[in-house]
Amino acid sequence: MITSRRSFLTTTGTILATVAELRHLTVFGKRPAADLILRGGTVFDGTGTDGREADVAITADRITAVGPALTQSARTEIDVRGLAVAPGFIDIHSHGDSSLAADPRAESVIRQGITTIVAGADGSSRATGTAANGFAALFGRLDRLRPGVNVASMIGLGSVRGEAIGNTDRSATVAELRVMVAMVERALQDGACGASSGLEYTPGAFARPDELIALCKPLASRGLPYATHMRNEDDRLLDAIAESIAVARGAGCGLQISHLKTQGPRNWSRLQAAFDQIETARRDGVDVAFDRYPYLAYATGLTNLFPVWSRDGGTTAFLSRLRGQGTANRIEAETLAKVDLIGGWDNVQITSVSSPTDREVQGKRLGTWARGVGVEPYQATIALLERNRGRVDMAGFAMSEENLERILAHPLGMVCTDGGAFALEGPTRRGSPHPRGAGSFPRVLGRYVRERRILTLAEAIRKMTSVPADRVRLFDRGRLLPGNAADVVVFDPTRIADTATFERPFQYPRGISLVIVNGTVTLRDGQRSRAHAGRSLRSNPVAGR
Ligand SMILES: [Zn+2]
Repeated sequence: MITSRRSFLTTTGTILATVAELRHLTVFGKRPAADLILRGGTVFDGTGTDGREADVAITADRITAVGPALTQSARTEIDVRGLAVAPGFIDIHSHGDSSLAADPRAESVIRQGITTIVAGADGSSRATGTAANGFAALFGRLDRLRPGVNVASMIGLGSVRGEAIGNTDRSATVAELRVMVAMVERALQDGACGASSGLEYTPGAFARPDELIALCKPLASRGLPYATHMRNEDDRLLDAIAESIAVARGAGCGLQISHLKTQGPRNWSRLQAAFDQIETARRDGVDVAFDRYPYLAYATGLTNLFPVWSRDGGTTAFLSRLRGQGTANRIEAETLAKVDLIGGWDNVQITSVSSPTDREVQGKRLGTWARGVGVEPYQATIALLERNRGRVDMAGFAMSEENLERILAHPLGMVCTDGGAFALEGPTRRGSPHPRGAGSFPRVLGRYVRERRILTLAEAIRKMTSVPADRVRLFDRGRLLPGNAADVVVFDPTRIADTATFERPFQYPRGISLVIVNGTVTLRDGQRSRAHAGRSLRSNPVAGR
C-alpha cells in the first residue's frame, strides 16, 4: 500500500511539475530558470500524505513546480536533503499583530516557521468595519508596515460591540444591532476571514446568544467561521460549548472553538463529554473544529480572575468595586473560588505589569511573591491591580497533559499559538510573556510528534497548514502545489524543538533551517534576512476547491 501510494504521489508530482513547466513554455517560449529551487528535501504537501523526496521550484512569489529531480535550473539552489519541506505554518489564533507596529519583523513568529497569522482573535480586532475604521484601511496599514509575516484577520465582535454600544452590560437595541451587522458585513466584504468573540472579556461578554447569531449570519454564505473564546472554560465548559454550537447553528456558519481546554483539575474528566458534544453537532451538520496551543498554562489579563460583572463599565468602575461597600466581599469570594479552581495562588504567574515599580513581580508566582513581601495574596493582588490600573497579565497553570495530548491528536484539532510576536532584542522584549509566542509549533513537532508520538509528522503538518488555510479560505496557501503562494518552511524533524520556557521565554526554537515568505528567503540557518515579505491577506470566500 505504502509503495503504491508513494509511486502514485510521485507520478502526480511529476504531472504537476510538467503542467507548471508547460505553462511557462507557452508563456516564455523556452524553459525558464526558476528563482529558487530547494533540492532533494522530503516534501510534505500539507494534505496529510507522507513525505516524499522532491524538489520545489519557486519564481517570484509562487511555487512553480514540485517533483522529483526537476531538470530546470535556478539562480539560487539550496540543498535540503534529509530535511522536511512543508508549507509555511498558519497560526489560526494569534495575537502577533498587536506588536507589528513596534517591530514588524515578527521574529518569534517567523522563527517557528509560521508564515501566516490569523489575527483579530478573542473578540478583539484592530478594525471594526466602520467607514472610519474598516478592514480595507487596516490591510493598507499592514502593507505599509511591511511585516515579516502574512496577516489575515477576523473581525472581533467585542470590538464591534465596544464601538456600537460601549463598555456596558445591556442588550443591543434594534438600531444598534443593525449597525453592528452592517459593520460585520462590511468587514467581510473587505476580506476579514471570520468573526471572533471573547465571551470572558468585556465588552464581548455582554453579548447574548441572539446577538451573536445575528452578527454571525453574514458568515454563512461566505463559508467563514465563527471563532470563539467561549463564555467559560472550566466548571461550565459543557454549557459554553452548547452555547457556541447553538450560535453557529442559528447563524448557519462553521464554528471554531478557540484554544479548547478543560480548566481546573476537577474538570479534567470532562474532555470526553466535550468531544462527544462536538462530534454530535458535526453529525447534525454543524461544521465544528477547534484549536489549541501545546502548553498547560493559559495566559490572560489578571483581571480575568475576577467575575465579569465586577468589570462592567471598564477599569475605573472595576477598581472602585474592589473595595466598594457591598461589592468587595462578593468579588473576593468569587475570585477566591476561581483561584481555588485552578489550584491556588502559586498556579498564577505574573507575566507583565505596566508600572515600572512592579517589574520585579514579572515571572513570579503570585502566592510565593505575596508571602515574600508579607502580604496576604488576595490583598497583594488587588493592590497590584490598583498600582497598574488593571494592566497586569498572567499565566494560569490549570490544564492536564493527558487532555492536551488528546486535543492535539484529535482529527478536528488545529495548532495555534494564541501568543504575541516578540524578539530577543528591541521594543517587543517586554515582561515575561507566555512561551507559546515563541515555541508552539516547534513544540508540537518536537515534543508531541517526535518524542511522545501522539500524531504523525504528516498529520501534524496538515493541522498546521491545509486545515487552517481552508478554514479561513486562504485558498492559495497551506499546500505545496504549483501556483500556490511560495510560503515554505524547511526543518530537521530529528532536531526541531522549542526552547522558550515560562522562566526564560526569550529563546527561539531550534531545528528550523529555512523560512520562505511569498518567495523571499526570510530566515536561513538562524540568520534573519533584511527582507520583510509578508502582506495582508484577504480571505477569498468565492474561489473554492
Ligand atoms: Zn482566548
